[in-house]
Amino acid sequence: ITGVEALLRWRHPEEGLISPNHFIPQLEEMGRMVEVGRWVLRAACHQNVAWQQGGLSPIRTAVNVSAQQFFQGNIVDTVESVLHETGLEPKWLELELTESRILDGSEATIKIMRDLKRIGVSLSLDDFGTGWSSLSYLRNFPIDRIKIDQSFIRDVTSQSAAEAVVKSILSLGRKLGIACIAEGVEKPQQRDYLQKQMCAEMQGFLFSRPLAAADCS
Ligand code: CA
Ligand code: CA
Repeated sequence: ITGVEALLRWRHPEEGLISPNHFIPQLEEMGRMVEVGRWVLRAACHQNVAWQQGGLSPIRTAVNVSAQQFFQGNIVDTVESVLHETGLEPKWLELELTESRILDGSEATIKIMRDLKRIGVSLSLDDFGTGWSSLSYLRNFPIDRIKIDQSFIRDVTSQSAAEAVVKSILSLGRKLGIACIAEGVEKPQQRDYLQKQMCAEMQGFLFSRPLAAADCS
């Protein structure tokens, strides 16, 4: 196990488990995502430290950062102060960024990314391959890791087009010195295929469904 991804769920007393697809857009609309995002970051870093203090070997914790947090939340200061507060070494934190029209290739975006890299955290491009300008991102962004979108992995053993895309991303990553992680691995056949293609990291239901932190330990 090389890492975990922090996922947000809302356990509502009456409604039960509510998916982030339902409440995140509302948080964003209400302008509360920056605040909640900071809380998520702190909780994730804190958990990582608790695992290390509990004697488990250190692993990476990935935290999703929305475009709103990235630009409105003074993300560099937030990350620095959360690391300081929780005592987590920056190398164990990875921020996942999703391609979007907001997270563009502008100087402002690249500057924030460089500042984050300077702190010592790593950056990954989430849901890679589904956005609108993936290749220019790879050329310009100081990215450590590509997360190959699950839609390609789902079809990788059954559709030659998906297979071609996955192979190309893996080879591109190797040539650019960017690590790749395949998302949404659910079947042993997909894992075997990816292993043959020298894909070093994978995540998905085949390895684990989302868990509460205590069960994850
Ligand atoms: Ca993610
Ligand atoms: Ca993803």
